[in-house]
Amino acid sequence: MLKYPLTISNSWLKSARTCERMFHYKYREGLRTQKISHALERGTWVHAFLDEYVQTGDWGNAEADLRKTYPEGVEGTDDYLLTLADLCDGILNHYTEEYGEEDMEIVDSEVMLSARIPGYDWSLTGKIDLFFRQGGILRGRDYKTGRIPSPDQRLMDPQLYIYDFLAADNGLDVEIWDYDYIVPALPTNPQELKAGGLSKRKNIKATHASYMAAIKDAGYDPADYTDILAILKNKPNPFFVRETVHRSPVVTQAILSGIESTVGQISYLDNATPGIWAPTGMHVYGACNGCEYKPLCITDLHDGDRGVIIESSYTRKEDRGKETRGQKETQKEEEIYVNLAKR
Ligand code: SF4
Repeated sequence: MLKYPLTISNSWLKSARTCERMFHYKYREGLRTQKISHALERGTWVHAFLDEYVQTGDWGNAEADLRKTYPEGVEGTDDYLLTLADLCDGILNHYTEEYGEEDMEIVDSEVMLSARIPGYDWSLTGKIDLFFRQGGILRGRDYKTGRIPSPDQRLMDPQLYIYDFLAADNGLDVEIWDYDYIVPALPTNPQELKAGGLSKRKNIKATHASYMAAIKDAGYDPADYTDILAILKNKPNPFFVRETVHRSPVVTQAILSGIESTVGQISYLDNATPGIWAPTGMHVYGACNGCEYKPLCITDLHDGDRGVIIESSYTRKEDRGKETRGQKETQKEEEIYVNLAKR
């Protein structure tokens, strides 16, 4: 149960800052593309597998749920989704190999927290993936599936600063936060060479453990592969990166002030005519690429028939029936949108 009714989240802020039109389509019109997003489904299911794993040491229930959601033999089911359970299972196998049994006492997982911004009648909310104790210290963790960002991107990512603010306001004195980056891919098996033996390509996307397993599967002698095995042993794992986040009070303050100005901007836009929604995503490098609203946005900007596009490509909040697990997660974000002008 959230403490305050008027809430905004990191996703809400991200969308508002990226593009006014994107924010408008997503939060004011409540539109969602009909196409299932592979990235969203994959991320949501990897989180579900990890949550079960930290709670029970296994991910069998999440895997069974996923296989039931996208069963084999059903005509028309997307090929990627049919193999998603195998991918998630493989990721968890490698993840547990990388980190082993962590000596942790779970405090709580998937925790929804809210906190009032001092001096304002609105609050922030966020779902924290994991709180745990290690060596008597309270720690917080956020799982990220996708590309591993550069260190400077990570240091300027507001998410964990917001989570730290939320935790502190809820009496959780977190000493260490970390991002657990998970690349949603499996190691590549080395190629069998025509002349016999396995390829020793140095830039192969593999780990020491996966290469060793491939040698054993192919029935070769590991002693013939000590060179490539030594390289892989000394290389950072390309699939998992765990980074502790250094917190800076200056950045926290700057982020809270930035939130204030974003809320002010949205509040202003709520009072403006719909025509004022600017295609700001065009100015943000790459924001239009992959934007789920691109077909509608182009139609609107060129005065086309938006009804036809909405009918064929989007669902409205009030019309949505059966949703995927990923879409349900996003729906929670939509539900916290409030029209600030009505306050
Ligand atoms: S296509 Fe670009 S301008 Fe249009 S809503 Fe998406 S991000 Fe904004």
